[in-house]
Amino acid sequence: MDPQTQAISKLTGMFLDKDLERRFEDSYLNRSKNQLRRIAQGIGMLFFIFIFYDFSANKSNETLVIICICRFIFLFLGIFFYYRLDFFLKSSTFFKITVYELIYINLFFIIVFVYETSHFLIQAFAINVIIFGVFFLIPNILHYRIFIALYTLAGFLVVTMSKYTPAFTELIAIYSYLLIAIFINTISVYSLGKYMRLDYVYKQYFKELSTKDPLTNTYNRLKFNESLSSEIELAKRYGNTFSLIMFDIDHFKNFNDKKGHSFGDKILVEVSNLVKESIRGVDIFARWGGEEFVILLPHTVSDEATALAERLRRAIYKESLKKEIPLTCSFGVTSFYNHDNHDVIMERVDRALYKAKGSGRNVVVTELYSLERQCSQ
Ligand code: GH3
Ligand code: MG
Ligand code: MG
Repeated sequence: MDPQTQAISKLTGMFLDKDLERRFEDSYLNRSKNQLRRIAQGIGMLFFIFIFYDFSANKSNETLVIICICRFIFLFLGIFFYYRLDFFLKSSTFFKITVYELIYINLFFIIVFVYETSHFLIQAFAINVIIFGVFFLIPNILHYRIFIALYTLAGFLVVTMSKYTPAFTELIAIYSYLLIAIFINTISVYSLGKYMRLDYVYKQYFKELSTKDPLTNTYNRLKFNESLSSEIELAKRYGNTFSLIMFDIDHFKNFNDKKGHSFGDKILVEVSNLVKESIRGVDIFARWGGEEFVILLPHTVSDEATALAERLRRAIYKESLKKEIPLTCSFGVTSFYNHDNHDVIMERVDRALYKAKGSGRNVVVTELYSLERQCSQ
């Protein structure tokens, strides 16, 4: 992923590439999980605690009942969000968060409506705080944030028209300031979103650089070792198996010596590309070093891995004949055994490759936990 080529929409501040945008949003939500939880619970508690003020303010019974219902809903929603966060994160997360915010805001307006005392300016402050919260506190995407802010403003207009009779100039001034607040917040969150996305692509880019071999664009040893360790963990925990193929280009030094180093590089790239085309997306194909490669094949038994190695051996040779530069590789194959650790399984596949070299090259040797089988010539 080259950060220079990842375009961001000028209108929405989002990635134009939908798939990339989805991955960014997933990671953004994942990072915001705990924050979301605490905010939902905090807001729920905060609005609930006002219940003490409501009781002390000598309201009519009817008003108190409505307010209490709203306050308990606040509390319930906060708790529900806290304990059922996965329900929100499963799908259409931002939409669900938006619906949640709308419920909160409507509850707020219901309480404002039933309150007998009128405080137009204090309510305007409260609306401003809600707008700031919507933009900077609760993770969401920009257009939903703008929608909620405008909805809140419209709701406040309804409250104003039905409850207060502010002077016209006061009314215009308050709504102008609230609109300006929404405008400033929109610009800030737009820029913030853009920088977060840039940051995301650069992180992905450096992560990719740190796991890939620059010449062949296959994974490097670091990534392979990590994948192997986690595959061993999974195999031990769930009882599934996996296989390893290690192969080495035969007499590669001759190509370098006769045709030059850059020709040798070209061969490494071509062999890698051919192998990449023949394996699955879940397989981890890495350059182990020099002209030696490894393939980690999850959920693959030894017979399947041997068959794949054999297919690769033939394909590489056949392809090289087309270019009239005969090229062969030797293959070692092994599969996971219950008590294997990282070093043990690597030693076994290395031994299998060593035997393949020893038996004349251009062969596949499968070595299973102390059992050896030579496949083809
Ligand atoms: P064998 O059949 O026993 O594997 O013989 P070989 O010649 O392939 O093995 P050897 O280990 O003697 O030589 C490996 C050569 O690979 C030596 C080294 O210069 C070359 N090599 C390692 N990395 C690269 C690379 O990135 N590019 C090029 N062009 N050559 C490389
Ligand atoms: Mg070699
Ligand atoms: Mg070698």
